[in-house]
Amino acid sequence: MNRSHEKLDIILEELQKIQEFIFTQAKRSDLSRQSIAPIIEELCIRISRIMACDRVSIWLFNEERTSLTAQSILHTNGSSHTAGEVIYAEELPSYFEAVQQVRILAIADVSTDPATRELYQHAYYDGGEVKSIIDASIILSKGIGGVVCCESTRPRNWSYLDRVLAASIADMLSFVFDRLERIEVEEHVHRLAYTDLLTGIDNQYSFTEKVTKQIGEFENGQRGAFVYLVMDQFTEVQGVLGPDGAEKLLQITANRLKTQFPHPAQTGRLAFDHFVIFIPFDGELECEMARIERVVNRLKRPMHVSGQEVYMTFSYGASIYPEHATNVKYGIQAAYMALQSGKEASNRKGGNLYDPEMHTYLKETMLSEMNLRRGLDLNEFKLHYQPQVNCRTGEVIGFEALIRWQHPERGLIFPGEFIELAESTGLITPIGEWVIKQAAGQIRDWIEQGLRNATVSVNLSPRHFLHHNLPFYLEKCVTEANIKPKSIVLEITENVALEDTEAVANRINLLREMGYSVSIDDFGKGYSAFIYLQHFPIQQIKIDRQFINGLGNDPKSSGIVQTIIHLAEMLGLQTIGEGVETKQQWDLLKQFGCSELQGYYFSRPVPVEEINALIRNHGRAGKLLLPSMY
Ligand code: C2E
Ligand code: CA
Ligand code: CA
Repeated sequence: MNRSHEKLDIILEELQKIQEFIFTQAKRSDLSRQSIAPIIEELCIRISRIMACDRVSIWLFNEERTSLTAQSILHTNGSSHTAGEVIYAEELPSYFEAVQQVRILAIADVSTDPATRELYQHAYYDGGEVKSIIDASIILSKGIGGVVCCESTRPRNWSYLDRVLAASIADMLSFVFDRLERIEVEEHVHRLAYTDLLTGIDNQYSFTEKVTKQIGEFENGQRGAFVYLVMDQFTEVQGVLGPDGAEKLLQITANRLKTQFPHPAQTGRLAFDHFVIFIPFDGELECEMARIERVVNRLKRPMHVSGQEVYMTFSYGASIYPEHATNVKYGIQAAYMALQSGKEASNRKGGNLYDPEMHTYLKETMLSEMNLRRGLDLNEFKLHYQPQVNCRTGEVIGFEALIRWQHPERGLIFPGEFIELAESTGLITPIGEWVIKQAAGQIRDWIEQGLRNATVSVNLSPRHFLHHNLPFYLEKCVTEANIKPKSIVLEITENVALEDTEAVANRINLLREMGYSVSIDDFGKGYSAFIYLQHFPIQQIKIDRQFINGLGNDPKSSGIVQTIIHLAEMLGLQTIGEGVETKQQWDLLKQFGCSELQGYYFSRPVPVEEINALIRNHGRAGKLLLPSMY
């Protein structure tokens, strides 16, 4: 069909209407795979009109691009729609190749063209009424995502205008599908923030939120028990069953807990094999404790994991709201202490109820055990530094300071072994202060060695971050070392957000006004990534190693990393990819637009002497390029 110039205006007007329709629909906040179906149907009708063709269909590729699934097909009679048909690259190799190679595939006679000959004979063509087709590829941000296909029952030489129209329509569809994809990834990140992906039960953040709400609605006199439960010998069992077997055990345990402690009880997993349960109750405390003991005993039924019967036992501690704790955080803490002191005092496995005396007792025994204080006094701690590089150029732009304990008997101890203890005893604040002072002095030293703009990131525990003295202490160190606040980056983890939100926001604002940067460590790991972006004026996010690790083999990870980088870009935040171990991960992060990187691929954390040697050998005009980058 030849379309005269006079009709051009009408066609363009129609195209504009389609565009308006698509954009309004795509901006709807409830956009989802379901809500999009009628929109796509309506679009097919409009496209069939503007393209003056008999059949219109919209198809999307699967992840590997080995099949196309129909999102909607408007059939030749012009009123019936179907969806869900699938065609496979295996059966139609020429067609799949053709649509992926050209932007517009315009074919006057489908029965003779090599790209469509197979397609024409394919069952999907019901009777072969179609004579000519024009396909336009739908290009999404991740690459080609699908095709929009317009077919005619007459042989037709597609005009230039037909091609332009088809391409424009495909571009508009890209907009919708890209948005849909983004919404889905965002939802995924959101789910990550609120559920424990492994077991599907609540994580610490949502557990805290739900129980806080529940307690708020308690009637006078109502009480609740916090139970902190761990598997005995989980680490050993993990060694025997391997990571997959251990995960299975955790899933089974989570399921059992959910069934054994039904609503209104709440169940959550904090980390590893640590679970928490909150059980509201009305009756006598002794009865409730006896009931909990019975239920925990029932968890001991054998579990079937990779063909084996595994018998697990559990230990727990309990605390009571409101006697022992008036909020969730303290409730969990008290239950944990009850668990610990139960283990330590008599080495008897089993439940224990919190007693305020445990607090002092535990503090003392732990302190004497590890002698952290002595380590600090005798200057046994040291910092290792891990370079951070510019993602585009590979040039070193800063370092993360990571603490180590050079123990006289035990050798080099990594932070994983003592930070938690330091946190629970309060020693983390003096340790953190020591780190800040060292780092400030180190920055001065590097400036003098010619490295002018390098930053040092220090890790701060939540408790220290909110400590009233922190701003003064920072000020003191920065002045003494004669450096600028902007050369210090303060890394905090997501769980700082579990503290008082307003206090955290005030603290971040103040530090920012003073010139420091605040960075969120382990971003996306699972507790409250979103809460941060929504509430706090931070400068940088460090994308957690687990997602970087998945790059290149797990499509979800790529999606999540892209979303995080995209969100950060929109909010004007810097992104650091952590734990980069391969060139492939670097390339992908570069492609996604990540700002900075850190990881073994560039360098492990090393003693300061090694960094100094690097600066001597590879520093040029205030810049440092790692030897691995040449
Ligand atoms: P983090 O802040 O997430 O630090 C990064 C950790 O990942 C470091 O472990 C580092 O050695 C390791 N890492 C870096 N690149 C790679 C990589 O490419 N692959 C792999 N597999 N790992 C990589 P490290 O030094 O054992 O520190 C563990 C955690 O201890 C730190 O995690 C941080 O949360 C805490 N920490 C370290 N120093 C301090 C400190 O001075 N104060 C406080 N409060 N916490 C600290
Ligand atoms: Ca860190
Ligand atoms: Ca980290």
